[in-house]
Amino acid sequence: MSVHRVMGIETEYGVSTPGDPNANPMLMSSRVVHAYAAPRGLRPAQAHWDFSDETPLRDARGFEMSREAADRSQLTDEMAQADEPHLVNVVLPNGARLYVDHAHPEYSSPEVTNPLDAVRWDKAGEMVMLAAVRQLAGETHSPPVNLYKNNVDGKGSSYGTHENYLMPRSTPFGRIVEGVIPFFVSRQIFTGAGRLGIGQRSERSGFQISQRTDYFETEVGLETTLKRPIVNTRDEPHAVPDRYRRLHVIIGDANQSETATFLKMGATSLVLGLIENGRSPDIELEDPIQALYDIGHDTSCTVKVPLVGGQRLSAVELQRRYLDAAESWVGSDTDPQTARVLELWADVLDRLEDDPLGCSDILDWVAKLKLLQGFQERERLGWDSAKLALIDLQFADIRPEKGLFQKLAQRGEVRTLFDDAAIAAAVAGPPEDTRAYFRGRCVQKYGRNVAAASWDSVVFDVSSRPSLQRIPMLEPLRGTREHVGALLDSADTASELLDALTSP
Ligand code: ATP
Ligand code: MG
Ligand code: MG
Repeated sequence: MSVHRVMGIETEYGVSTPGDPNANPMLMSSRVVHAYAAPRGLRPAQAHWDFSDETPLRDARGFEMSREAADRSQLTDEMAQADEPHLVNVVLPNGARLYVDHAHPEYSSPEVTNPLDAVRWDKAGEMVMLAAVRQLAGETHSPPVNLYKNNVDGKGSSYGTHENYLMPRSTPFGRIVEGVIPFFVSRQIFTGAGRLGIGQRSERSGFQISQRTDYFETEVGLETTLKRPIVNTRDEPHAVPDRYRRLHVIIGDANQSETATFLKMGATSLVLGLIENGRSPDIELEDPIQALYDIGHDTSCTVKVPLVGGQRLSAVELQRRYLDAAESWVGSDTDPQTARVLELWADVLDRLEDDPLGCSDILDWVAKLKLLQGFQERERLGWDSAKLALIDLQFADIRPEKGLFQKLAQRGEVRTLFDDAAIAAAVAGPPEDTRAYFRGRCVQKYGRNVAAASWDSVVFDVSSRPSLQRIPMLEPLRGTREHVGALLDSADTASELLDALTSP
């Protein structure tokens, strides 16, 4: 068992238009996407359609060819609609998806195989958004837009950060639910991004660990925007459906701290491994939703929550149960990244138990709390002060010269994992070890001929063939550099690529 598995992170960014407070957020968000796509020649026509209800075809090197069922004219109609703001949608050269979801610009990272890459391609999303903000700031005909990597607007609504993990279909869903609930309820002590205000509409003043906590109201369900569940039952694997499940995790904050994202993805992947192997600790919370609120509102991290059977455990103790199970299942002979996650997980729990404020170099919520407390003490401000609310927002501003988290990172007060060059490389290109490699390189090299791309297919439009050509990619680990790198290097045109893929 290791932390390695196919995963990806989606992040919706908060939007504000200081010069035009009444601007339509949907329109602003679509301008963000356009501002990134247009100068780079990325066409919105490269929309993302879900072809997954079509039956997959025979296998040949992991790729199969088909004459696209939909005829060209039908697809052209859909492309025309793609100009509507809510349908704005592009696939980036790094294999990611950039689009407008609800009223927010969203970056969905390409599929990666490990937590460190998840961090890198999520950070790449921040750079993409920053480039769009800079572009809009330089345009005189439109008001500038600011973007925030946060999950609450301070006016009662919350937007999502989703984690996605590939799991074998053979693991029963009921077992996943039992296994992850106590883990998700307690992991907020290291995944939380910190928030001023308690309650969905900040009915009470105060500071809490997580931004998303108060918006979760039920244990299991399909919803993602109303009556949000701790475990989301959405079942869209974007992969061979009878072999795989994509666990869609909607309970979690957008982390600016690279180390927090690394731990979040790594620890969660390990817990899913425990569940898959029937090794998950046997814990059941008496009242998961109440426990979620109690833990989320307790910045001392000492509150104990009741389990079925009468025992009471703190979040740190709950997490230790999972950590212990993971350590003993992994053993001493493991890969470096798994060892690193286990070590970090243990270290963070020890430090949280000792004094949560000691984690300000790693955890978003602690870094924010420390900063706010500094202002509070110097200026004698209450938790309900408007100035603190501004700082809370500015903490998440993605511009390095404005964002307060970023300033802490620049000063070395929070630990980073990657330098700017490594993140820039993740903006420019895809991960090499998943199908995102094929998708990203196709957009880079044959962009003009890519009519559409989704997680599990790329559709080509080439003049040498009478109909659209769809390349299904239902295996997330096919289409890697190892599989198709040489092929992509040698095919100068999309036609040549298609010829090579269809040759027997
Ligand atoms: P919504 O935005 O409505 O929640 P969605 O969850 O289908 O829709 P997308 O925004 O399209 O999501 O993003 C999907 C994410 O899942 C991406 O980050 C992608 O890398 C990742 N992903 C795609 N296929 C798989 C898979 N089979 N297993 C794990 N992760 C996957
Ligand atoms: Mg999404
Ligand atoms: Mg999602």
